Amino acid sequence: MVEQTKLLSIIIPMYNEEENIPCLFDRLFVVLQGLSMPFEVVCINDGSTDKTLDILEKELEKRPGLVVVNLARNFGQHAAIMAGFSKAKGDWIITLDADLQNPPEEIPKLIKEFKKGHDLIGTIRVGRQDTRFRRFSSKVTNWLVARISGISLHDFGCMLRGYSREVVKGILENPEYRTFIPALATFFARNPVEIYVRHEERAAGRSKYSLLKLFSLQLDLMTGFSMWPLRTLFFVGTFMAIFGLVVAAVIIALRLYYGASWAAEGVFTLFAALFFLVGCQFFALGLLGEYIGRIFQAVRKRPTFILEWVKESGD
Ligand code: UDP
Ligand code: MG
Repeated sequence: MVEQTKLLSIIIPMYNEEENIPCLFDRLFVVLQGLSMPFEVVCINDGSTDKTLDILEKELEKRPGLVVVNLARNFGQHAAIMAGFSKAKGDWIITLDADLQNPPEEIPKLIKEFKKGHDLIGTIRVGRQDTRFRRFSSKVTNWLVARISGISLHDFGCMLRGYSREVVKGILENPEYRTFIPALATFFARNPVEIYVRHEERAAGRSKYSLLKLFSLQLDLMTGFSMWPLRTLFFVGTFMAIFGLVVAAVIIALRLYYGASWAAEGVFTLFAALFFLVGCQFFALGLLGEYIGRIFQAVRKRPTFILEWVKESGD
């Protein structure tokens, strides 16, 4: 029985999840105890402003296998998971949301895939319980990212995922600024698989993603994994320049043919074209800025997270 010796790590980022912890732990620990394998649960407090940290510290006393990682402030879900990866000791590592949207009862399904030898277990949510807007934007993102990055994942957003020690090691050795872990992990996987898991409504509290946070996450996903937007920009830019030249030539020709009175009315057309071009330039600049920003961050080598302290049950 080789599996018996494997250690399982569960990683849960938590940002203001005080209402969810009791129910989450009750359900999660029942599942884990039923697995008959050693486990640890690494909870990362991502700068919560509610009682999340107090509750976690109390739980430390009664839950063997619990590890609490406290971050200095809020760094975001993916940075929190990175912090969890850095502290997890397991051979098999599973990430989970704290809000019970990923039912812990689905964990045995992932274990089964680990046992089959898969080193990265992606998941696809069935019966997704999110707002129509979230579901729609996920669909667009999944499609777009798959197209431009060549990473074909069917559901980037589902965080109930399994990673082998080797994959996590790869991720930790190549920390990227503001990364998107499910996509990054595919780079290090040798034998990935995707399975279906149930999805439930958030048990309590509200989504920690505002529209702005969601948008910036999508942008990270887009620019973090592909140079495709830059390239498109180049093609669009070239096309626009040629188009501009042709329009100019036509206008000059018409001006010569019809005389100056015609040209006065043409001013408006010219302005329209100009505005269009200026708009495109701004778009291009913004996009360039995004990449330069990434280079800047990479050069600075700023840490993805700052660890305050780590406590284990039994300490
Ligand atoms: N989360 C976090 N830091 C953040 C935002 C979210 O650690 O800045 C955690 C949050 O506590 C939850 C998980 O990431 O465990 C997913 O967040 P949420 O459920 O709000 O996202 P959604 O389900 O709306 O995508
Ligand atoms: Mg959620």
